[in-house]
Amino acid sequence: MQKDLQFLKTRANFIRFSYIEEMEKYLLAFESRLSSKNIKVRWMSEETELVDFICKSLPKNNYNKVCFDIPKISDSFFEKKNFIKKISIDSFENNNDTAENLVIQANFGVIENGSIVFINKLSKNCFNNLEKIFVILNINDLVVRQCDLELLLYIQKEIDTSLICSDIKIISSPPSRIISKKFQLSNEDNYSSEKIEIFLLLYDNDITQMLGDNVLRETLYCINCGKCKEVCPVYQQTKEFSPIELIKYHCKEENKKSLKLFENTTLCGNCNEVCPVQINFTQLIIYQKQKFAKRNNNHEKNIDLFKIFSKRHKMNKVNSKFRRYFFIKKYFGKNKKLTNYFLNNKEDFFNITKKITQQ
Ligand code: SF4
Repeated sequence: MQKDLQFLKTRANFIRFSYIEEMEKYLLAFESRLSSKNIKVRWMSEETELVDFICKSLPKNNYNKVCFDIPKISDSFFEKKNFIKKISIDSFENNNDTAENLVIQANFGVIENGSIVFINKLSKNCFNNLEKIFVILNINDLVVRQCDLELLLYIQKEIDTSLICSDIKIISSPPSRIISKKFQLSNEDNYSSEKIEIFLLLYDNDITQMLGDNVLRETLYCINCGKCKEVCPVYQQTKEFSPIELIKYHCKEENKKSLKLFENTTLCGNCNEVCPVQINFTQLIIYQKQKFAKRNNNHEKNIDLFKIFSKRHKMNKVNSKFRRYFFIKKYFGKNKKLTNYFLNNKEDFFNITKKITQQ
């Protein structure tokens, strides 16, 4: 079973690699497939652009009823008073309220057949009651073939049963909605149908910037399974950065000057073990640290990192109370939560992979 899982992980890594390495070509193919099916594709680079486009496309000057099925709703949507009336998914789904527009994040796009995939989305039953649907899709969340998607979902489930995909909705052309006619002549039908307008917003979200770096582009293999967060001892204490978030944070231009890398990792390697697409976090963190040291001519810290990394086994045997105390203060002092955790933890703090996999 373990062997099978390893094979599937290698396959998943290959699936992501094939897409990411030729992302531009595949995105253009995806765009042309969707456009031929009357789904309007727009390219968005930043959040402000995305919000601006959605607001400008809303039909009314006031009280546009919008339902949001996205992880985080930007405050910028509500800057103009009374322009958007937010409708909760629950009340929309239960027919307690109506919405004309939906903003939803898609989980995947499938290039070979130009379809958009929604997994475990609460608004799944409401599509036919809308006028406009704005679908946000990160440009790295695409797969080349439908069978690739099946494999990715399968291994997510194998790794963590809570990620079982209980509901999947795939659309490849605009659905229709039924409209009841207010004024009809006696012989006419009471209802007619109309195509729903779908905008697919291909969202860059700093992805092309990561793509430009031959090493950091591995970050884009991520399929957001959340597993690295679960096994990260630092995240469990600080709730600040999951391993993948930590790397992505330092990829952003505005964060390149603030180095939060070392105080937010123990380089334990748990994330390397569990990642279904085999992202090598330790290597990426060291790479980012090297880049930072180079930019700032700070070679001393860089050497420290290698020293510590190569001596992880030895560091676990730092039994002397004082040595351990000064070590923790020196390297994790900037992160109070983590410092307290290590100071109170009497056990090994490097290479705890073994412990986690034994659980
Ligand atoms: S383990 Fe982390 S990096 Fe790997 S796919 Fe899951 S969320 Fe992404």
